[in-house]
Amino acid sequence: MAFIFTCGTHTFQSLLKGAEHITAQCQNCGNWSGKVIKKWEWFTFCFIPLIPFSLKPWHAVSCHICRFSQDIKYRPDVQQQIDAGGAGGGGPQNIPLEQNHQGQGPPQGWNAPPPQQGYKPPQGQYV
Ligand SMILES: [Zn+2]
Repeated sequence: MAFIFTCGTHTFQSLLKGAEHITAQCQNCGNWSGKVIKKWEWFTFCFIPLIPFSLKPWHAVSCHICRFSQDIKYRPDVQQQIDAGGAGGGGPQNIPLEQNHQGQGPPQGWNAPPPQQGYKPPQGQYV
């Protein structure tokens, strides 16, 4: 009986969120068919992705006509479009810093156990 282990790589690829509407010119074939995608390459073992080659997916402009993909760092024009599109979206950084709210905490006893009901004080035995 033989076990065959297959190692390889698998590239996950999907349209970059928030940049689906952007169309860029392919610098290989010249068509306006470039889409911004994110790519994430993983090392696979028996077709199961185990280890990512990089910590972060990389962004690229991918052309579906000639299958050319180009790292987005070479496409400042596309990066500008992404930045412009995401400017008005807001984000967690817009949340104002929490003021120190002394005296505004939750009511006392909110999380405390109920008062000791049914607890008989030991004084009773001296009566
Ligand atoms: Zn192309």
